[in-house]
Amino acid sequence: MTDDSRTAALRAEVRSLMPRAKADLTELVSYRSVADPRQFPAEDCERAAQWVADAFREVGLTDAGLHETPDGSKAVVARYPAPAGAPTVMLYCHYDVQPPLDDAAWHTPVWQLTEKGGRWYGRGAADCKGNIVTHLTALRALRETVGGSDFPVGITLVAEGSEEQGTGGLEAFVPGNADLLRADALVIADCGNFAVGVPTFTQTLRGNVNVIVTVETLSGPMHSGMFGGPAPDALAAMIHLLATLRDAKGNTTIDGLTADQTWDGVQYPAEQFRADAGVLDGVDLLGDGTVSDMVWARPALTVLGIDVPPVVGSSAAIQPRSRARLNLRIPPGIDPDKALKALTAHLESHTPWHAKVSVESEGTGAPFRSGTGGPARAAMEAAFHAAYGREATTEGQGGSIPLCNVFAGTYPDAEIMLIGVEEPKCLIHAPNESVDPTEIEHMALTEALFLATYAG
Ligand SMILES: [Zn+2]
Repeated sequence: MTDDSRTAALRAEVRSLMPRAKADLTELVSYRSVADPRQFPAEDCERAAQWVADAFREVGLTDAGLHETPDGSKAVVARYPAPAGAPTVMLYCHYDVQPPLDDAAWHTPVWQLTEKGGRWYGRGAADCKGNIVTHLTALRALRETVGGSDFPVGITLVAEGSEEQGTGGLEAFVPGNADLLRADALVIADCGNFAVGVPTFTQTLRGNVNVIVTVETLSGPMHSGMFGGPAPDALAAMIHLLATLRDAKGNTTIDGLTADQTWDGVQYPAEQFRADAGVLDGVDLLGDGTVSDMVWARPALTVLGIDVPPVVGSSAAIQPRSRARLNLRIPPGIDPDKALKALTAHLESHTPWHAKVSVESEGTGAPFRSGTGGPARAAMEAAFHAAYGREATTEGQGGSIPLCNVFAGTYPDAEIMLIGVEEPKCLIHAPNESVDPTEIEHMALTEALFLATYAG
């Protein structure tokens, strides 16, 4: 088959499979698979896992089964052995979902896939059940048109069962089961395009450093009238200290930490960012860089909490002690241990009045950057171009996916690509989550083309 006729055949096949994709997604969304038995019955996770295992067995993968992971959740793994000389591709997704949050805020039933204005609504419709259905549709289309009864590459389907809980079940499972999951290319389908119709690799993830800083000045609270003035005020010292972490424009300023990096992929328009972030009219965005620079390429420090007396119940007293919890997001290129050292040294050296300061680390996470230039990436770029009719771009993600670092550490030679159907309109994690069915269709076609061509 020529490239063009293969693309045309797969495109027609994927399109004809879309009603089935909708039926599958309807079934999957009906399971209330929030991986927290205090909120939803554990049976719903079990049934969702079983459904995923059955569906991928039916499409031709073998030894489909549920594997218990250290946090008690079950990962679905199904495989197709690689034909001689062909590489193996991991298709990652997760079947657990976020809780609905505010039921009353939903305009459609939370657990019933509902079409409205051309989109499909329901919890998990995009994150990540839409990606499960995308994998399924790609494999079905490939089977019908190119492979006959065979796939051209080895396939390892991994569907995680507790991704949204952050309890790290699969992260802990991977190193001890490296051979079960081993692949040459990992397609992490838990991301999405920059916008509908704009094929996008999520190229980087920020890492983070969390600390608690404590400032002490007095043996106890003192009357602000009798002592206010000369008495060292721990809360004032904390306010002074925290203010040194940003300059007047809002750039993060930590001694020894670079903060002038630039993003060379897609540019996040300021107006769109303002709307996405709910920035109030007239309030400035922070920093010297573009939105993309600030959110994907540079460090950003956020004060998560401060222990202070609440307004109601506070007394006329000078505070002897104050604590703050800080979260520092770091882009690829910054080592988390070095960032922790720099932040700690900054806090110690900028505490005023010789107040007693201590900094305690809560934990660090490494940033992540996908490799480029490998054969899998090249095949996926070509597949994106054929499916969407335009070049793929790159974006970052301000948050972290710790599993990516575990995969990178376990399979250092594998190519890791982050893609998916979760574009910004999906409102993942929020009420009224939805998916654009054209994204499922185009991503399924992309994936099918990738699997068909990567082997060569
Ligand atoms: Zn997800």
